[in-house]
Amino acid sequence: MSEGKHASLAEKLTNDTDRTDWHNKSIWGVRKKRDVAAFGIPDWELLRQTASNIKDYVLDNLHDLLLEFEKNATENGITVHWAADAEEHNAIVHGILAKHNVKKMVKSKSMLTEECGLNPHLEKNGIEVIDTDLGERIIQLRDEHPSHIVMPAIHLKREEISDTFHESWGTEKGNFDPQYLAEAARQSLRQDFLTADAALTGVNFAIAETGEYVVCTNEGNADMGAHLAPVQISCMGLEKLIPKREHLSVMLRLLARSSTGQPITAYSSHFKKPRKGQEMHLVLVDNGRSRHIQLPKFKAGLKCIRCAACMNTCPVYRRSGGHSYHVTVPGPIGSILAPNTNLKEYSDLPFASTLCGACSNVCPVKINIHEQLYEWRQVIGKAGYVETSKKIGLKVMNFVLSNPKVYDIGGKLGKKAMTLMPYAINNPLNPWYKSREMPDMDTESFKDWYKKNR
Ligand code: SF4
Repeated sequence: MSEGKHASLAEKLTNDTDRTDWHNKSIWGVRKKRDVAAFGIPDWELLRQTASNIKDYVLDNLHDLLLEFEKNATENGITVHWAADAEEHNAIVHGILAKHNVKKMVKSKSMLTEECGLNPHLEKNGIEVIDTDLGERIIQLRDEHPSHIVMPAIHLKREEISDTFHESWGTEKGNFDPQYLAEAARQSLRQDFLTADAALTGVNFAIAETGEYVVCTNEGNADMGAHLAPVQISCMGLEKLIPKREHLSVMLRLLARSSTGQPITAYSSHFKKPRKGQEMHLVLVDNGRSRHIQLPKFKAGLKCIRCAACMNTCPVYRRSGGHSYHVTVPGPIGSILAPNTNLKEYSDLPFASTLCGACSNVCPVKINIHEQLYEWRQVIGKAGYVETSKKIGLKVMNFVLSNPKVYDIGGKLGKKAMTLMPYAINNPLNPWYKSREMPDMDTESFKDWYKKNR
């Protein structure tokens, strides 16, 4: 049981109120941009429903669509590999690189390779991996994990990034001008692109009817790597399929708007076949997905297109930070995906939510995230992984709330106690007190007010 792991990891951020406020504000800014972009098109809700239907169809017909995709991709000249789990995925990628004697590989952002632990595996085998997405490169230099799936270094201030670049690349100390820092990254990455023996990308959407796939970036780094290197490898989770090319118009309109509030990502690059003299490999990865799809109440989680809108809106994520989730994909979606992979290890995550439903409201493919969080809590409770203090607290609440007399007396006693001894609640032993104080007690209960005013 991972008792309170999320809460204790969150303390790294929540103990610093200014930083928590800054983090909350930065992420909320992205959520606001999403709202402007979404409300800017009148058929937004129709688009969401259409995308949801497309992804439902994909999950219901995954077996056939995968075979169709494999057939078409193979005919296009792409070598398709199947990986049952992370270990097999890493072995396949390493095998391809070893065959070509690759010593250095550039990689654009891929949460799947993060999930599989590819970088450490390749580095252990003597292959240098350079992450080329700017945010990913920053955290790679700092030996950290991404804290967000779209903005991996959103937890860092520019002063910290400036220090990292100074230590790694000798940039001017104390210069945190964004343009100066971006130019330094550009110069360093350009050398890496020119000297890499292979390039790896993730996949946003793979189209069954054509055997092609689309990679979305704002920096063009996936294209730069793939177009220069003699070997291109792309890795995708089984659920990234869409049936037809025409479905892309729905997905691309939703993805960028939900993600960053842009009408479209700067680069939506289509990869269909290797160029002359190049080798192209695609690794289809299961890693728990075929088990997940068999869980009727949780299957819809696999519709996710990784836009991060649910994180940007989540009041818990915004104030606890991505690293507190101790899993590759943080936030509400991570909290419903992770228990499928290891119920005990991630038993704390479905509780890291207020169940307010904001995540489900913004999800472009209409995943019932907050309902699944609630469902996971039942599963975790039955499995015996709920921490003891929480179990006792819930039992007490159940008793009080199902007995009106006890509720009345409890309310009166609580009010007295709060007036005479506020420290009974506002003390460091109470985890709630760490970041909030109880407001002053009202002199009249709601029930009394209602009796007088109804
Ligand atoms: S669950 Fe929905 S909102 Fe969250 S990342 Fe996935 S698609 Fe986006």
